[in-house]
Amino acid sequence: MSLCSSPKGIVYYNPGGPRENPNLKTESRVFLSGQLRATRVVSTPFIPMPEDRKSPEARQQMSEIDRLRHSCAHVLATGILRIWPEAQFAAGPPVENGFYYDLEMDHHLSPADFDKIEAEMKKVVKENQPFEKIVLARQEALELAKEGRLGALGPRSSPSKFKLDILERIPDGEEISLYRNGDFTDLCAGPHVMRTGNVGAFKLTSIASAYYKGDANNPQLQRVYGTAFKTRAELDQYFQRLDEARKRDHRKLGRELELFHIDDEVGPGLVLWKPKGAIVRRELQSFISEELRQQGYTEVFTPHIGKLALFRTSGHYPYYSDSQFPPLIEPDTLAKLAQEGCSCADLSNRLKQGDIEGYLLKPMNCPMHIKIYASSPHSYRDLPIRLAEFGTVYRWEQSGELGGMTRVRGFTQDDAHIFCTEEQVLHEIQGCLQLVLKVLGTLGLGSYRVRIGLRDADSAKYVGTSEQWERAEASLRESVQALEVPFTEERGEAAFYGPKIDFVVKDVIGREWQLGTVQVDYNLPERFELTYVAPDNSMRRPVMIHRAPFGSLERFCGVLIEHFAGSFPLWLAPEQVRVLPISEKHLDYSRSILKLLLDQHIRATIDETSDKIGAKIRLAQLEKVPYMLVLGAREEQAGEIAVRSRKNGDEGALSASEFLKRIEMEVKERQRD
Ligand SMILES: [Zn+2]
Ligand SMILES: [Zn+2]
Repeated sequence: MSLCSSPKGIVYYNPGGPRENPNLKTESRVFLSGQLRATRVVSTPFIPMPEDRKSPEARQQMSEIDRLRHSCAHVLATGILRIWPEAQFAAGPPVENGFYYDLEMDHHLSPADFDKIEAEMKKVVKENQPFEKIVLARQEALELAKEGRLGALGPRSSPSKFKLDILERIPDGEEISLYRNGDFTDLCAGPHVMRTGNVGAFKLTSIASAYYKGDANNPQLQRVYGTAFKTRAELDQYFQRLDEARKRDHRKLGRELELFHIDDEVGPGLVLWKPKGAIVRRELQSFISEELRQQGYTEVFTPHIGKLALFRTSGHYPYYSDSQFPPLIEPDTLAKLAQEGCSCADLSNRLKQGDIEGYLLKPMNCPMHIKIYASSPHSYRDLPIRLAEFGTVYRWEQSGELGGMTRVRGFTQDDAHIFCTEEQVLHEIQGCLQLVLKVLGTLGLGSYRVRIGLRDADSAKYVGTSEQWERAEASLRESVQALEVPFTEERGEAAFYGPKIDFVVKDVIGREWQLGTVQVDYNLPERFELTYVAPDNSMRRPVMIHRAPFGSLERFCGVLIEHFAGSFPLWLAPEQVRVLPISEKHLDYSRSILKLLLDQHIRATIDETSDKIGAKIRLAQLEKVPYMLVLGAREEQAGEIAVRSRKNGDEGALSASEFLKRIEMEVKERQRD
């Protein structure tokens, strides 16, 4: 979950917004988008930058698999040095699903080198060298680095420059250690597996470039990525999963199934929902709306732009200008400024200072919903007030970070804001969780976990009283516990304005996706001076809950496309039934069946081409149509239809009314395949 923090320490709720490690270089993003997309949504930073030196305590807690992978990085370095002894190594940490090692040398590595390097690595593994830890004084280590012996197989003519730099940055008093396997010696705090023979099954996966310490002013290094698992079978499974993930890539399926389009002339990160994708979105939206109505939400609509003044009060402007489209200015003001010869810099400053008023494409819906709440007086009897909107917001994302439906510049949140009393927070949170449970369960995303973000010990930076926080945190914990879903509590992960819950779901192939959040907020009611009349006639502040459990419709649909691999369940499928006449002799009968379906609001089409029936079936199957009705002489005579399902193939003959009854039930109950 990415929460932005401003110079003033304001942090705001940001589902559907940036989620990845901003330190990532474009190259590694390319790599990630090609191979590790499965994990990109999980918020743990999986590419620790070399400058993020882990504390000795954190290192000792390194998981078994990370030890193995990090040890494999040493084996990689050993292998590379046997071929290119002059290579200068920088950092080689484990990362999610693998490891890398950064190095500098004249030879420009390419995947064509992998066989050769892996062959050397296999020898090192076979030699089963013990990993030996050597603790030494700083001065001794410096000497070795100057002799080029760190990250090396022996002394060299040039010093181990990166190791020297790393060494110099190790704080005084921290233990300095080397790890040695065979001839290879590296500056390393460990830990490692016992022997090179323990690194299991490994494979090099890609090459990227990365600046030393992630800083573009530093030399550019070659980064070799690899992965390692305890067993060959696990390694194979990993690559099968990647392969499966590639087949399910929503960008690929979105194109093939004509669900959405992103057009450069419209603008990067701005999604065009094509007719078929629009059906999926509309069905999903109706489903969520139905559940919201049952839970006592009321739906509202708000404009896509609002005055800067509004976002000044909320704090979204100017503190987050970097992640927003620039303000819009009224034509008269603009003409006047032009006459005055106002420079761009002046304009920008005057907007920021509030000398000139303008409008902002809304980055969040909250201020608009707040204004709806504040538009009439409220008594405690009216609360909770639950305002829901599929609200479209705009954020300025760097163009290098845009991709498919999961990283966009305009998106529609399944947003809602609940205004309630302190005492109602628990019940409201439970309602949010039940909604998530229902929607995800229906979609077959029943396996998910919850992260509760709590404040840390430093309570000075939080708004709201200690008692309020304790109550809110207890409410979150209690509601999650009642659901009996796995959860973790993360101290210090709360926003400054209140604790929160994040949802991470697991799809059918075991990948985790972070969706939206539920956040308690004591800040905005304060900034907008919201009130309600309490039973004793005093004016009190309501508590606000922001919730967008599925993040955004773009993101959620992207996840669903991958989850279902494009084979949407009947109720979501853009085309539900395709009528396939065996020959043109059966066109009339086929059209009469089509009419029956359309009359019952089934999304059906007919394939009237002169193609052979086998080809028609193949095409419908390829387009992932849930049901195909094959109609020929036999069916016409019997007044029946031969049903084929996408999943089971031939399902035999039925009367049209039996078939209709069956699929109506399937749609109504929102069954899955
Ligand atoms: Zn090491
Ligand atoms: Zn909000």
